[in-house]
Amino acid sequence: MQENLVQKIVEEVLQQVLKNQPSLQHDNKIPVGVSARHVHLAQSEVEQLFGENYQLTPKFELSQPGQFAAEETVVIAGPKGSIERVRILGPARSLSQVEVSFTDAIKLGLTPPLRISGDVKGSSPITLIGPKGSVVLKEGLIVAKAHIHMTPADSARLQVEDGQSVQVKLAGIRPIILSDVIIRVSDRYRLEMHIDTDEANAGLIKQGTLAEIVQAQSIEQTSVQTAQPVVQTATQLPEQKSVYHYTKKLLSQVQVAAITEQEIVVSKKTIVTALAYDKIRELNKTLTINKE
Ligand SMILES: [Zn+2]
Repeated sequence: MQENLVQKIVEEVLQQVLKNQPSLQHDNKIPVGVSARHVHLAQSEVEQLFGENYQLTPKFELSQPGQFAAEETVVIAGPKGSIERVRILGPARSLSQVEVSFTDAIKLGLTPPLRISGDVKGSSPITLIGPKGSVVLKEGLIVAKAHIHMTPADSARLQVEDGQSVQVKLAGIRPIILSDVIIRVSDRYRLEMHIDTDEANAGLIKQGTLAEIVQAQSIEQTSVQTAQPVVQTATQLPEQKSVYHYTKKLLSQVQVAAITEQEIVVSKKTIVTALAYDKIRELNKTLTINKE
């Protein structure tokens, strides 16, 4: 049987099962969907990667109405590595965006910010490679913030509003609580929480796990822009590249100890003491000597 046919049958059976479970409609449980790495493309980039006037081919429908996984995949590449067969999700959008987990980002050698989907300004650069060409996006690589899609009726029932940040308990094999999960309300949505594969792995969560909002913060406390990881997973997170430009003549161990940034940049005229070098090594910092 064709793979897409099987997928369609599975989707339909799942929808029937969900319809026949009145408990899901009436209690406060939220179905969880795990988003694997994926790409959203603008039409111009679809054409650069697949050829002129190319249209994406829907492979199967996603849980959010109108959204589909395309037959087409691309290779995504960063300075340290690449990942093949990354699924494209349609329909085409106004801005291209690539969503990966932190684990993927380590493989690519990039440190993308944690963002709500669609907020790509100033995010990491990424290269996409298709059968007919490649595209270098100056920005567009993000780690997607965990979020919950819902209708206005769900939002009234669950007493949360669009943009609000909530704490959510996930009853997987290894139960976890995720903080700063963003509520997204639209009558085009269907009730579902979206997490990435790192978050799913942290809680040993499978598709179909249920979530529950355990604490709602007021909307004023919500900061959609902060790039804080939602959960600390066991994988090493990429180090946040923060740089301190040291401009004085002498850099001693006392100054090194006082600098919180990971990288210290000095001019070639700055004298760095032996003890300062030791301190840099001890604190796992990097010293860059600016040649200009
Ligand atoms: Zn989503």
